[in-house]
Amino acid sequence: MGKAALTIQADTFQFFTRNPRGGAVRTLDTEDMAALVHLQKEAGFVPLVAHAPYTLNACGAESRVREFAREAMHEDLKRLEHLPGNLYNFHPGSHVGQGIARGVELIAELLNELLDGVQSTTVLLETMAGKGSEVGGRFEELRDILGMVRQPEKMGVCFDTCHVHDAGYDIVQDLEGVLSEFDRVIGLDKLKAVHLNDSKNPSGSRRDRHEVIGGGYIGLEGMERIVKHPALSALPFILETPNELSGYAAEINLLRRLAAAE
Ligand code: FE
Ligand code: FE
Ligand code: ZN
Repeated sequence: MGKAALTIQADTFQFFTRNPRGGAVRTLDTEDMAALVHLQKEAGFVPLVAHAPYTLNACGAESRVREFAREAMHEDLKRLEHLPGNLYNFHPGSHVGQGIARGVELIAELLNELLDGVQSTTVLLETMAGKGSEVGGRFEELRDILGMVRQPEKMGVCFDTCHVHDAGYDIVQDLEGVLSEFDRVIGLDKLKAVHLNDSKNPSGSRRDRHEVIGGGYIGLEGMERIVKHPALSALPFILETPNELSGYAAEINLLRRLAAAE
């Protein structure tokens, strides 16, 4: 993974800790991880992002579902200590009819069981599009989770541009306003990574369908403002656009040019 990132001039990348749609974890290859630690240093990578599987639901209604989330995240966090100091991102969850407040409570409860104060990993809540019963479509929901966690210093937020846009925050016309709202509600110091995706749908659609950079409703000018914004520009940017490796290479190139343009 690290080597593939280098071939397309990336300086970070995201990887799934296991099959994104669930399932068992591969056996731990500590040698592989040691090689990656070395490569990360050598290549001067900014923090890497490990992504928890989508199927994980920290606020499911059934205890069996929450138990899977607990076990998977516990195992992931343990393994990530072989790649110290990086980021672990997860979708807060879907409350499946229990209501946002209960969802928030269950997510915080789980985090309080998992964070031991010793991990070197920062755990990120991803901003969500708010489709279905997803928790995390409003900044306030993420703030409430962070507010209940006993070790908020071990936590941060990953800003997914497609999700924030789809949730109804107008980052195209008013990026400045959205970021000041984020700052007021959560605090920009909590922002640790960006998922840079265009969107197939208009703002407020709550759809969560990623589009290639410049090909969707955020558009190239919107993207330029995002990569140039001083509150974001120093963060790790992760592409989750529908692409093959060559497509990512082209997008990285394009985005670097946009970021550097006057
Ligand atoms: Fe995600
Ligand atoms: Fe994302
Ligand atoms: Zn998404």
